[in-house]
Amino acid sequence: MTLHLVPDATPAAPEELPLCKGCKAPIRPHGTTESEHPGSVPSWGDNQCRVCDYLACGRDPEDRFISIERVGYLTSVRADIESDRQRRGIPARGSLAGRIPLTEFLDQIS
Ligand SMILES: [Zn+2]
Repeated sequence: MTLHLVPDATPAAPEELPLCKGCKAPIRPHGTTESEHPGSVPSWGDNQCRVCDYLACGRDPEDRFISIERVGYLTSVRADIESDRQRRGIPARGSLAGRIPLTEFLDQIS
């Protein structure tokens, strides 16, 4: 008996993106970029884009600044992350963050 793999001839249906409940713009999934979903907007929560979310909250969509209180909070979060990094001995530089690629590890032990 011979098995033949036959590619699925059915073309994939165009992806349906959820629409912003305010302006009906297509909202792309988290972690994706506009180049992957041309013409889409990032999700800003509650099935809305950022502009519609700002408007719903009574804020100016052009206001891209964060409050001084928020800066203080984010600074403390960053300090916590940094002290945890130092406590765990993770190097500050490098995208590997204290790890080595699996292939490199396997080369070392073989
Ligand atoms: Zn919108």
